[in-house]
Amino acid sequence: MELLKQRIREVGTVLSNEVIKLDAILNHAVDPALTTAMGREFTRLFREDNVTKILTIESSGIPIAFAAAQDLNVPMVFARRKKSLNSDTSETYSERVPSFTKGYVTDIMVSREFLTAEDRILVIDDFIANGDAARGLIRIIRRSGAHLVGVGIAVEKSFQAGGRTIRESGVRVESLAKITSLAPGRIEFE
Ligand code: 5GP
Repeated sequence: MELLKQRIREVGTVLSNEVIKLDAILNHAVDPALTTAMGREFTRLFREDNVTKILTIESSGIPIAFAAAQDLNVPMVFARRKKSLNSDTSETYSERVPSFTKGYVTDIMVSREFLTAEDRILVIDDFIANGDAARGLIRIIRRSGAHLVGVGIAVEKSFQAGGRTIRESGVRVESLAKITSLAPGRIEFE
């Protein structure tokens, strides 16, 4: 998606060879026009897949997931992160997910009432690095009996293994911008 790549070039700050700061559009501030356009792009990609619900993870996935949900006219659910130790209850699914940027493990939780075996779920998130966040959401979907339609990611860092390994497991992963390398002052796209 050219517009997203252009905005990444404009506002992105390379923090290391592995991490890019995109606070101005994804992780701290929201650009409504860009976010709406990303939602539209996810809709174009998954229009034929009879998505019934979008699942994301708080907090940075929420605006783009909302934009896609509005466009596809389906509800959106966000997994909540808990710092304390959480395990499944009769009401919730929990999964443990290492946080790539924060360096600690969080437990993510979705109420069972929001995922049913009849659902066809599209997962949406801001970034994919090692793929832990996406895999945590996928495990929750599998356990609920819902069907996973695919994963939509705003920014895939394709030099990290997450997108590739999830695709290799048979899941459709679509990314709006793929970064192949990061260096100070230099962002390369596929
Ligand atoms: P993963 O679980 O795929 O390793 O990492 C995905 C999560 O880590 C994303 O939800 C995102 O919040 C965060 N993340 C991973 N890499 C980056 C990065 O380069 N920049 C920012 N701002 N967040 C990242």
